[in-house]
Order: sequence, then structure tokens, then C-alpha cells
Amino acid sequence: MHVSGTDPDCVFCKIVAGDIPAEIVSETERTVAFRDLNGQAPTHVLVVPRLHAADIASLAVAAPDVAAALLVETRRIAVGDGHEAYRLVFNTGADAGQSVFHVHGHVLAGRDLTWPPG
Ligand code: AMP
Repeated sequence: MHVSGTDPDCVFCKIVAGDIPAEIVSETERTVAFRDLNGQAPTHVLVVPRLHAADIASLAVAAPDVAAALLVETRRIAVGDGHEAYRLVFNTGADAGQSVFHVHGHVLAGRDLTWPPG
């Protein structure tokens, strides 16, 4: 199970710790949200747990309360940016486009979002 307190080599653990800068959108007891460096929509925010977990399924098994808190936070972020509708994406595994292995939900909103995704 890839869940632990923090990983010293993880870029998102460093953002959670405040060791590297990010445009923080919200912070809760269990989560931190910040704008994606390479935004793909007018709202493109990443929501991460404070604890290190590789992906959403690992997090949900090891700490379901934290996974639930992360999911609740996604709507607050979208609404905070003025959007009732949003897309939530968890790329899971390198072959699915995951490049940072600290679970993060992409909250995307503010433009037409086509289906199927690329
Ligand atoms: P994924 O490909 O699903 O793992 O998404 C990783 C996302 O993290 C990408 O959209 C990157 O643009 C974003 N990203 C990587 N490093 C940072 C950073 N330091 N601050 C904000 N976003 C980042």
C-alpha cells in the first residue's frame, strides 16, 4: 500500500509542507488545493491529501475518511470559482497519464468539456 505520512522526494508533499510555492486555493485539516501550473481550463485546481498516497484507490483503502474529505472539497472549489458543473479527474497509473504519484483530483471547469476525454 503506497500510503505514508510524507515522502521527502514528492513535489506535492513539498507543496503541502510549504517548502515550494503554489497558488493555494483552499486548505482543510486533511487536504490542500492549489492551481495547476499548466492549467487546461479557466478553473484547473489540484486537490491533494496532506498524507502521501500514490493514488485514489490506495487512499480510499488506507484512509477512507481522507478520501471522502477530498471528494467533498472538490465541489467547494468549483463553486468557489463560480461553477456548479465541473469535471473531476484522477489519472491513475502512468499509462493513464499520471505523472505525479501523490494522489490528486483535477477539478476542471469554466469551459465546454467534451466527452470522451483525450
Ligand atoms: P497528472 O499528470 O494527472 O499526474 O497531473 C499532474 C499535474 O500536476 C499536471 O497537470 C501538472 O501540470 C501539475 N503540476 C506538476 N507540478 C506542479 C506544481 N509544482 N504546481 C502545480 N501543479 C503542478
